[in-house]
Amino acid sequence: MALRTCDEPQQTGPGIWVRRLKAAEMVHVTVFSAAMQGVWIHWNGNSSEPCHSPIKECPGHKRGLPSKQRFYIHCFNHAKRREEFIELPAGCAADVREYYPKGSNMRGVRLQLKRGNGQKAHLTVEILPPISETVSGPLPQAKDVHETLCQLWHLDPKVHQWNKETELPIPKLAS
Ligand SMILES: [Zn+2]
Repeated sequence: MALRTCDEPQQTGPGIWVRRLKAAEMVHVTVFSAAMQGVWIHWNGNSSEPCHSPIKECPGHKRGLPSKQRFYIHCFNHAKRREEFIELPAGCAADVREYYPKGSNMRGVRLQLKRGNGQKAHLTVEILPPISETVSGPLPQAKDVHETLCQLWHLDPKVHQWNKETELPIPKLAS
């Protein structure tokens, strides 16, 4: 028997990495998304689960699991030299929303995100001047986080579409 060789590194997991900042981690990104995409999730004690609409049929709601909002931004991670989705909790998303209100375009904006030391440390965001597409060339097309989340949650994206009818509220910034 011969030894099997391969040329292309096999892709495992989601096509695009979803980054959730760890304690003391800092990233510098350039945003491709025009706007943050928000979803409701449930926390089961070990991992996140999707929250489904209508909520009376949602398995997480039926089990009484706590729900939270998560916001995603498609961006370029400069240190890793790759495209990623950055995951923001509601408080950090509210900080971003203060500078980029609903309806504004975030494409090209640079963000520096930093989590403090400790498990419960707050995620802070610094908003840096946007890059100029006339200088950098056109930015890559923004990607929707839907397909990646479906992969992470082992859901069929054709069956579990976004619910378009609901406007996702962003909580007020706690001062
Ligand atoms: Zn739910």
